[in-house]
Amino acid sequence: MSLKAPFNPDELPHHLSVYYRRFFPYSLFHRWLNYGHSDTGHFFALREFCFTLKDDVYLRYKSFETQKELEKGIQEYCPHKIDIGPVYSARIKDVKLNPLIVPVERELIFDIDMTDYDEVRLCCSSANICSKCWPLMTLAIKVIHRVLTEDFGFQNILWVYSGRRGIHCWIADKKARNLKSPARHAIIEYLTLIKAGLQGKERRAVLSNFDLEYQAVSKSLHLVRNHFLKNLVRDQGLMESEKGLAKVLAMLEDQELIAKVRAAIEPISGSERRWDKLTDMVGDYVASKKRNQDSWKTSNMLDELQVMFCYPRLDINVSHGLNHLLKSPFSVHPKTGRVCVPINPDQADQFDPFAVPTIDQLLEEMSDYDKAHPPLSATGTGDEPTTVPTKPPIPDWKKTSLKEGITIFETFVRKLEINWKREKAKENIKTEPVDTDF
Ligand SMILES: [Zn+2]
Repeated sequence: MSLKAPFNPDELPHHLSVYYRRFFPYSLFHRWLNYGHSDTGHFFALREFCFTLKDDVYLRYKSFETQKELEKGIQEYCPHKIDIGPVYSARIKDVKLNPLIVPVERELIFDIDMTDYDEVRLCCSSANICSKCWPLMTLAIKVIHRVLTEDFGFQNILWVYSGRRGIHCWIADKKARNLKSPARHAIIEYLTLIKAGLQGKERRAVLSNFDLEYQAVSKSLHLVRNHFLKNLVRDQGLMESEKGLAKVLAMLEDQELIAKVRAAIEPISGSERRWDKLTDMVGDYVASKKRNQDSWKTSNMLDELQVMFCYPRLDINVSHGLNHLLKSPFSVHPKTGRVCVPINPDQADQFDPFAVPTIDQLLEEMSDYDKAHPPLSATGTGDEPTTVPTKPPIPDWKKTSLKEGITIFETFVRKLEINWKREKAKENIKTEPVDTDF
């Protein structure tokens, strides 16, 4: 991959105008958000878009009748960010004339942001990410994708890199788009193992024995334990870093136990050997409390500790309601210049946020490709007959590293199309008259 073009924010306005003319996948985008409705049905026009312009000027309540209109709007405003809102009961641009307009349909969405892991990250904080903490996002994809597909049976799920420090998830199945707020809330609850403490107490993982009987929780815990051992204990030397050790011990809460564990593991070298010792000692501690009335407080403390360090943290406000805006796939992050590309959840381990192309890089890759593949007329003698049929021009995105992201997006849209054709076929069978003349 070319590293010749570091992102230059000063050139963003100019580069965005090229990007929106030559790279943005309008056709796939419209096919997705039109969800198989006829072009005369005005379904697409009911969707809200929000454009963020330079200096955080927001243009809310934008809507577009057709793909062509959307193209025109995006190219005219060249937004620094594009957000997608819900489908409304009427055109949202008329909201001032008709205050009764309400959201009626919305993908189920999740927003996972690395800053929500700051209390347990050892390497970075706030907007920064690195190759040590990014695997937390990979784990979030694995845990949530498994729940969504296996436990809820959703099939049309788009994972997208947010362009900087997080990931977004769009669940586009019809049954997901039609969920009301209480049902969305129930799904979030099902996915939540880290809860805010009462009376302003810190967040903590809460696992009851009842929870562990659920296959869903035990499957998630399996992923969490693997991640904890490999990424934190082994790769990051959690138990040998003073910062890491302090965080781990603090989660044991019982001061006497903390002092005993610290004294026992400090002479041991090796993060994994220290972790093994801690698990033995905590295991004995839990066993000693087994007959106590409040044994539920300690019985799953080892798993709770690991959950606190790596289980996905969801932004509940984003998923709960229907009218929250979420940054569009293929928007460009204005601070990093990186494109919000889709991620293949089956290859989440291979996704590297630092390899995602910046807008500058795309333009350079396109120019390199064009230089290496000049049009035939530029290389020929000029005597070729003009009637020779020429191949259709290759789309600009195919000349660049945006190709992979667009291919994932195309696979998502095609699967949606297959599903809604199948649904329509089923509806047609149901409405066919039944022949009762035996
Ligand atoms: Zn980091």
